[in-house]
Amino acid sequence: MSDERVAVIGAGPSGIAACRVLDERDIPFDCFEKGSDVGGLWRYENDNGLASAYRSLHVNTSRETARYASRPMPDDYPDFPHHTQMLAYLEDHVEHFGLRDRIRFRTEVTAVEPVDDTWEVRWQEPNGEAQCARYTAVLVASGHHWDPRRLEPPLPGTYTGRELHSHQYRTAESFANENVLVVGIGDSAMDIACDTSQVSKMTFLTARRGAWIVPKYLGSTPLDQVAVRLQSRLPIAREVAGGALFNLGSSVFARRIARIQGRPHDHGLPQPDHRFGAGILTGSSDIFTRVGVGRVTPKPWITRLDGEQVRFEDGSAEHIDAIVYCTGYKITLPFLAAQIVDPVSGTVPLYRRVVHPDHPGLYFIGLIDVAGPLNPLSELQAEWVADLLEREVELPSRTQMQQLIAKEDRRRRQRFGGAGRHAIHVDYVPYLHVLQRERKRRRVKRGIPTGRRSSEIRVAAKVSRPL
Ligand SMILES: Cc1cc2nc3c(=O)[nH]c(=O)nc-3n(C[C@H](O)[C@H](O)[C@H](O)COP(=O)(O)OP(=O)(O)OC[C@H]3O[C@@H](n4cnc5c(N)ncnc54)[C@H](O)[C@@H]3O)c2cc1C
Repeated sequence: MSDERVAVIGAGPSGIAACRVLDERDIPFDCFEKGSDVGGLWRYENDNGLASAYRSLHVNTSRETARYASRPMPDDYPDFPHHTQMLAYLEDHVEHFGLRDRIRFRTEVTAVEPVDDTWEVRWQEPNGEAQCARYTAVLVASGHHWDPRRLEPPLPGTYTGRELHSHQYRTAESFANENVLVVGIGDSAMDIACDTSQVSKMTFLTARRGAWIVPKYLGSTPLDQVAVRLQSRLPIAREVAGGALFNLGSSVFARRIARIQGRPHDHGLPQPDHRFGAGILTGSSDIFTRVGVGRVTPKPWITRLDGEQVRFEDGSAEHIDAIVYCTGYKITLPFLAAQIVDPVSGTVPLYRRVVHPDHPGLYFIGLIDVAGPLNPLSELQAEWVADLLEREVELPSRTQMQQLIAKEDRRRRQRFGGAGRHAIHVDYVPYLHVLQRERKRRRVKRGIPTGRRSSEIRVAAKVSRPL
């Protein structure tokens, strides 16, 4: 039993993972959840007011990789479960591990501040009453897909039709017989363009930059499982996500995919200005078909908005009834003091994307943008934090942590050429190994046996068996 008292902020997939781990270790904790139930993003129309899920949303990573290491998804789930199935899985996880009573629902954390050697957490009770308490550690698991990012710089001109962000999009019905323009090239843009194209007069698709688009399957195997195995077979890729071997693996993979479905520009979508793997991959098995059957029309970038007319770089203009901006999300942590949050990226500089080097006791679960599933990584982050709280493992010195953060940041900038969402990007397999090494190396050093809690390693081994 530890003498730490811990606050967990959020009961989405990351917060649930943290609660399960802390509970298993007998580390006392309080979990605060703004909404009236668990599930975060996966609860459609969540009453936390932060919901981003649309009705047609399916998990974009497969059942086998999207599960927590500690509990499989039901056998009768499809490869890519619907959001209602993901929510049912999360609810079941909470019931199975008896976590529901440990979560304070309809309770919003309003401030987290360091006071002496503790953290003062302030929150609002369901009846509106303000409360506060001190904790030795805080695990922030509040998610980062709820604060819509607008186009920067804004488009020139004025638009008088209907505009919305993908955060507000739920169903296609209201777009029936309309001309819809979807702006963006990420997963949501593909999903929403395919969705609206079922009912719209025409769905146009435009993006400022191109992105590599990958299908859900390679043969009969979900593509993410193939990618995990491929990455696991390149040992150096585990260490150096931007290294030559990783690049080689990526280009082999890219060629295989291009042979199967063609490249985005072969289908009229913008040509990516970066090599495969050097930017976020977009998953869609449907978009090229929707273009092919004439229900989605790719357009070059927008030059001007003019009433309900939208003008494009090729000189064409279209009457557009509605624009759906799939332009991503800002990272917003409103309860944290300004000096903790990086003013440029909006995020926090973190060692291994979990530990704040300047603020002992402040940890982040799920504050990553992963090319792969988040659940197993959030769970592994929580295991590592529990190791730290139990003092089973040690951290490097503050200077060493800061140096590594700076180095990783440089690597990300070289690879992605900017900040924003990329500031928190990790590659699934390399990151999994980094976390496992953090947990193992320190334990060996202190003479504590490794492998005691190795459920996460079993899952990685399962998906990384040779092709
Ligand atoms: C459209 C879309 C599709 C996605 N699909 C996938 C996918 O297929 N696979 C995948 O791995 N990832 C996917 N993601 C990423 C997805 O956000 C995460 O996988 C997952 O939901 C993150 O879990 P989380 O717990 O970190 O955050 P969330 O799910 O956002 O949960 C955060 C929780 O914290 C609570 N909270 C926030 N602030 C406070 C506060 N101040 N006080 C108390 N509680 C608070 C919220 O109410 C919420 O319940 C998708 C994202 C989007 C936008």
